Amino acid sequence: MDREQFRVAAHAAIDDIINHFDSLPDRRVLPTIEPGYLRPQIPENPPIEPQEWSEIQADIESKIQPGLTHWQSPNFMAFFPASVTYPSILGEMYSAAFNAPAFNWICSPACTELETVIMDWVAKALGLPECFLSTSENRGGGVIQGTASESAATMLIAARERRARELTLAEGVKDNGSREYEDRICAHRARLVALSSDQAHSSIAKAALVAGTRFRTVPSRLEDNMEMTGESLRATLTKIEEEEGLVPFFITFTMGTTNTCAVDRFAELKAVLNEKESWKRIWVHIDAAYAGAALVVDEYRHIAQNFAEGVDSFNMNMHKWLLVNFDASCLFVRNRTDLTNALDITPTYLRNPYSETGTVIDYRNWQISLGRRFRSLKIWFVMRSYGLNGMKAHIHKGLALGNLFTEKVKSRPDLFEIVTKPDFALTVLRVRSSAATPTASNGTNGTNGTNGVIKHDVAQVDQKANEITKKVYELINSRGEIYLTSSVIAGIYVIRVVGVSTQADEAHTLRAFDILVNATEEILRG
Ligand code: PLP
Repeated sequence: MDREQFRVAAHAAIDDIINHFDSLPDRRVLPTIEPGYLRPQIPENPPIEPQEWSEIQADIESKIQPGLTHWQSPNFMAFFPASVTYPSILGEMYSAAFNAPAFNWICSPACTELETVIMDWVAKALGLPECFLSTSENRGGGVIQGTASESAATMLIAARERRARELTLAEGVKDNGSREYEDRICAHRARLVALSSDQAHSSIAKAALVAGTRFRTVPSRLEDNMEMTGESLRATLTKIEEEEGLVPFFITFTMGTTNTCAVDRFAELKAVLNEKESWKRIWVHIDAAYAGAALVVDEYRHIAQNFAEGVDSFNMNMHKWLLVNFDASCLFVRNRTDLTNALDITPTYLRNPYSETGTVIDYRNWQISLGRRFRSLKIWFVMRSYGLNGMKAHIHKGLALGNLFTEKVKSRPDLFEIVTKPDFALTVLRVRSSAATPTASNGTNGTNGTNGVIKHDVAQVDQKANEITKKVYELINSRGEIYLTSSVIAGIYVIRVVGVSTQADEAHTLRAFDILVNATEEILRG
């Protein structure tokens, strides 16, 4: 493809992409194809001769579109969203064109320097404490990772190395590259335990798996809205230390758990960690992958104050709710040296005068892989195109749609019960088992109206409610008009609804509620 062919092809592709976005509200959100649908449509071997772009492009509509799940559809209400906007796409285009795997500063200084500045912008937009800025005295700073999973694994490795080193040095063994030092580090690594609440995302358990450490969960309870409490943490830490003789070294607190958007009780948890010297050494990582986006609006800003002290790292995915396409996982660390101590391996071919002076950032030492993409461009484009006010408006719109859906659910106490406190535009509900008996309606709406605490007047594990809710969920998804996710919380089968796509508006929310009611009534009628 030469430059003129590229010009024509790119214009055609852009037109196609715009039409794709326009067509989304009318497309089924879930595809109807069966597994393996694509192979018979694609030649078994790559083409021998070059093909025209028009021929290649045509296959998008005929072969790819039928197999797409439309995450950008306003009817996508499953998992958490994955946003994309036009300025973000433009950022990807430039990034693809420059294509510099800028692992060291010299490999493309603009790539490194823009990332440092833009991560400071993001930190300020979220109201994160000063300690996470690249300009902070404590040598904090942000780095863009691919995913929250990668961020957690990277932090866990940094924490592992920090703790193993501390324990080794405390024994009087010097860090001099000796066999003895290596043996002690390995011995200590084997005793380390990473923790999170039982509601934390599975990526935390996976991070421990990747880092080769043990992992334990802190139990949460429905009565506590599935938030991690200080009491539960204390009991778990005590057991690990006193009964198991192991060393807790890393804990993830979540702002917005995947199941229910619960927010762990940060102040209470940090107070517990301050109770013992060994607990003060635990690396605290905040996983705010989805809900962290809400820190841009005033109502949620106070949460970030909890991170001023006693928190080592914080992560938020702009690619979930904050208008930047996948991948844009923003990771902030209080002390970059913890990271570089763990991950800096510098063979001769990676040395250069700039790195040697220590005056530049080489982001390869802040991540697991060497090469990296120019991801800050798309964040820069989005933050400038929307401005902080545009970003706030986007979050506010999502919150309003979430509230609308919650209110609609509450308006049908005969059918539904809200299971956990709705937050960050997520509603977690189940069908009441009493709905299955014609006369039944206890007239409550699942909350007692104070502080959003849920009053559970129905037995938690109600098999009948579980069965009906599951059937309703499966019926809705089988029709593909909207796409929802289910989960099981404290034995309760629930449906999660979160519809905050950039194209979503009230009409989509109301339609989704009607679909929910109709499907429920259909199941109840048998
Ligand atoms: N943390 C939370 C709270 C999540 O909800 C998710 C995914 O939804 C993740 C982490 C993992 O995100 P990623 O796909 O960026 O690894």
